[in-house]
Amino acid sequence: GSVFAHIPKVPEVPLYALQVAYGKDPSPLKLNLGFGVYRTEDGKPFILNVVRRVERLLVNDMSNFKEYLPITGIAEFNRWSARLILGADSPAIKENRVTTVQCLSGTGSLRIGAEFLAKHYPQHHTVYMSQPTYGNHPNLFSVAGLAIKTYRYYDPGTCGLDFQGMLEDLQSAPSGAIVLLQAWAHNPTGVDPTIPQWEQIRQLMRSKGLLPFFDSAYQGFVSGNLDDDAQSIRLFVADGSECLIAQSYSKIMGLYGERVGALSIVCKTAEVASHVESQLKLVIRPMYSNPPIHGAAITAAILKDRDLYNEWSIEVKAMNDRLISMRQRLFDALCDKGTPGDWSHITKHVGMFTFSGLNPEQVAFMTKKYHIYMPSDGRINMAGLGPKTVPHLVDAIHAAVT
Ligand code: PMP
Repeated sequence: GSVFAHIPKVPEVPLYALQVAYGKDPSPLKLNLGFGVYRTEDGKPFILNVVRRVERLLVNDMSNFKEYLPITGIAEFNRWSARLILGADSPAIKENRVTTVQCLSGTGSLRIGAEFLAKHYPQHHTVYMSQPTYGNHPNLFSVAGLAIKTYRYYDPGTCGLDFQGMLEDLQSAPSGAIVLLQAWAHNPTGVDPTIPQWEQIRQLMRSKGLLPFFDSAYQGFVSGNLDDDAQSIRLFVADGSECLIAQSYSKIMGLYGERVGALSIVCKTAEVASHVESQLKLVIRPMYSNPPIHGAAITAAILKDRDLYNEWSIEVKAMNDRLISMRQRLFDALCDKGTPGDWSHITKHVGMFTFSGLNPEQVAFMTKKYHIYMPSDGRINMAGLGPKTVPHLVDAIHAAVT
């Protein structure tokens, strides 16, 4: 018999199961609003022009090489990633208080951060995360041995932020606890605090000594501007205290499968930062030794060249504009059809997703009758929609709620 015979089969991870079911559906009407990927108006995968251009340059670059990177990745990529998130004139960067390491996209950056905290922040083994949050967040931290708690975040009554609930829950968290904060374009809700609310969150967290761990997967997908979107994190860094930041280039550069990301740890002093970096290497080395080159080389080339950076910023703005226009179209079409309910949250929500308010039964009905695939929590990937598919979605929502 097999030495693995005792292993039970577990169900597919829900979001991936959705992907499989979508693939098998023969209907020409089928519509995939599940996976968080940016698509063209026709629902086709999208590669940024600036990425294509840089890839051609890299192919011809004779200094290109395939040997191992250092454990912490491409130094230039790390430097420019920190600048992207903290700003070109960030005092923390100038004072060498930030250590940045290249990791395997947002997921890998969170994972390395979680392992680092489990090992070096052992007196505070609890992470607070928003209710709800990105599906992989609890797994990422619990496999590192950290305890998971939640803070109130989304108010189903208003389809907006439960700010009071959030503050109360952070207030009652034990001093020193880790708090995971999605920096902008919250997944899955599309609901963000305002800047004055962020300031209140900051004051509360700093007064209680809570440690912020920011997850940034959508910089630029709220306002269309990379710097304007970065305000929440920059508020926290400006007060001189410490935090962790996981950055992903999956959505904002369309580099999903290249796994490009960075973990930054902002420290009180340059000395602490250098000690932290030395320990991060010991966390990374036994996990995958060193990160891959290709994606991070593309990103570094874009970030460090003024023209390429500008070209990229314009493409980020265009992606954001399309998301906003899809929100408006969907909202208008639901109003025109007279679909019962208040759908104004669709245009108020920000980023890639809208938390539609549809319940699991309604979602199941829409999948069965209309071949529309989305997670059972009712999250809609706005980037999966196009002008041609909005009417089909509206028919489905209308039928589901009436
Ligand atoms: N954080 C959030 C909030 C996300 O939405 C995602 C991707 N959907 C990630 C992290 C991780 O993505 P990746 O590993 O592709 O960067």
